[in-house]
Amino acid sequence: MGIWVRLPGKETVEVPSGLTAGEAIAHADGELAKRALVARVNGRLVDLAHRPEEGSVVEPVLIGTPEALEVYRHSTAHLLAAAVLELFPGTLLGIGPATDEGFFYDFLRSERFTPEDLERIEAKMHELIERDIPYERIEIPKEEALRFFAQAGDYLKCELITDKGGEVVSCYKLGEHMIDFCTGPHIPSTGYIKAFKLLSLAGAYWRGDERGPQMQRIYGTSFFTEEELQEFLRRREEAERRDHRRLGRELDLFSIQEEYGPGLIFWHPKGGIIRKEIEDFLKEELLRRGYGLVYTPHIAQYRLWERSGHTEFYRESMYAPMRIDEVEYQLKPMNCPFHIGIYASRPRSYRELPIRLAEFGTVYRYERSGVLHGLLRVRGFTQDDAHIFCTPETLKQEIMGCLDLAQLVYRTFGFTYTVELSVRDPKEPSKYMGGDERWTWAERTLAEALEQMGFAYTVIEGEAAFYGPKIDIKVVDAIGRQWQLGTIQLDFNLPERFDLEYVGEDNRPHRPIMIHRAILGSLERFFGILIEHYAGAFPLWLAPVQAIVLPITDKQNDYARDVRERLRAAGLRVEADLRGEKIGAKIRQAQLQKIPFMLVVGAREVETGTVSVRERGRGDTGAVPVEAFLERALQLIRARALGLETTSPQIGDVHPTPTRA
Ligand SMILES: [Zn+2]
Ligand SMILES: [Zn+2]
Repeated sequence: MGIWVRLPGKETVEVPSGLTAGEAIAHADGELAKRALVARVNGRLVDLAHRPEEGSVVEPVLIGTPEALEVYRHSTAHLLAAAVLELFPGTLLGIGPATDEGFFYDFLRSERFTPEDLERIEAKMHELIERDIPYERIEIPKEEALRFFAQAGDYLKCELITDKGGEVVSCYKLGEHMIDFCTGPHIPSTGYIKAFKLLSLAGAYWRGDERGPQMQRIYGTSFFTEEELQEFLRRREEAERRDHRRLGRELDLFSIQEEYGPGLIFWHPKGGIIRKEIEDFLKEELLRRGYGLVYTPHIAQYRLWERSGHTEFYRESMYAPMRIDEVEYQLKPMNCPFHIGIYASRPRSYRELPIRLAEFGTVYRYERSGVLHGLLRVRGFTQDDAHIFCTPETLKQEIMGCLDLAQLVYRTFGFTYTVELSVRDPKEPSKYMGGDERWTWAERTLAEALEQMGFAYTVIEGEAAFYGPKIDIKVVDAIGRQWQLGTIQLDFNLPERFDLEYVGEDNRPHRPIMIHRAILGSLERFFGILIEHYAGAFPLWLAPVQAIVLPITDKQNDYARDVRERLRAAGLRVEADLRGEKIGAKIRQAQLQKIPFMLVVGAREVETGTVSVRERGRGDTGAVPVEAFLERALQLIRARALGLETTSPQIGDVHPTPTRA
């Protein structure tokens, strides 16, 4: 019996045994073999140099597949380590895995790597690629491996091998200096690496332990082609240009102050006005849609959180309780039990259902300091939270209402979105509470609501929470990144735990259905996403400063002040730059602040009662009467328009219709 080679889209062929996986694939299809990077033998990834046993099934893993890319990047990490060891002998190696965006390697060395070192390391890596050095797999007994690494003074590897190594451990050798404990597999040789780049330096702890040695982490990435690498670098640069932490500082939107505590957000006036506009927009819609706006406390007695189950299932995200009058209190990680409190504050009849309670509720959750990231991962945040209590008869209608609101909100901010319906894992029915019949009905109801609203969606099996199915909505931002924002979650658990009831038409008590739903999720995180989505150039209705009046000389300062006051009185957020600077400098400053409209005023504008409008992204669009500009601006704001173009044909025309008394 030989070896079976299974080729994509072809019949399985038999080749003689005794060949390596690579040779077996080449025997079956010489052309295809050129694109193989590693092989899968009986389902397990191995090097092409691996010799499969008789009767094995061998499949090539081809260049271009995600699996091959992971091996390729992990191999580039080994190449990085080999280059570092040639340039900086005595450096100890930590771990060096592939990541979603590339790879990293952790090094232990007393001196710090510099950006110039990274350039030298890159040059050395190119040299090693030129030499086309093989990745050699060595299998040795655990004891021998431990002796080898102990002799080399590499106590980090000894620790890893002691913890993770089997009786026989595998190591990979690359060139003369680099040998690492690694399960593999790897690409055949360094010549396979076509495009890579080292990206950054960071600190890391050995095995994530803050008491352990401080390692230096070098990040890099690699791709099968130079074009893919360049495209990645371009996107990365674009993302950096939009980084909300930098824009937040430059536009004075928010800050995080380590001395007050990491992960705690300070909204500055310019960020605060954006938040106010977002909240106003949502509140307007909520009231229009029959929600009640509520406010609830930030703390509650600990035993409430025991009843809700949070102390059991959510403890790791909660801060330690505090004592008040000998009673334990807990800072809230969620708003749900409070809204339940309002529901349960008096008996309810089916006639008042559905009850929709909404709150911009501020919660505090523990996040490890290592994962905190600007506005995107924080320790205190405000949710646009709502809970709907309804009867089974109106569930579908309520879900459709949530979807309709989500659609309106995302479109207003200029996002497209994708939708997922998370249902049970059919293989593990016992994991879920609430009974099979109710689950089947609930999942079908959510699907029907999505279909009736015309939403395309994918069903994700096994992603439902134990207490109910849910709909998740991910938005796609201006540069194609996806962000999970909205969630509509059914809950069969909390109504039981809190014994919630309503009196039905039959005069008997029934359990209401509870829906948790958020559209933006966390306002802080949403703000971070929004800053990056717009690259700081907010639509007019959100812009902290909507227009700035720029007098050409100080002779026009009085007129500039007058224009500012007229526009402010009409509700616009307007400033005037009255500094004794040249007009060019004033324009540049306003551009840096990404202000939508600059209103330039010189002698001619004073005489004719006009302003010369410079539009963000378009430049000078000519002089118009102040009232005409005002009308155009108000129209854009009322429409919450994304751009600065109005559809009205009158815009730009002279028609002085005063909008204030
Ligand atoms: Zn490795
Ligand atoms: Zn909730």
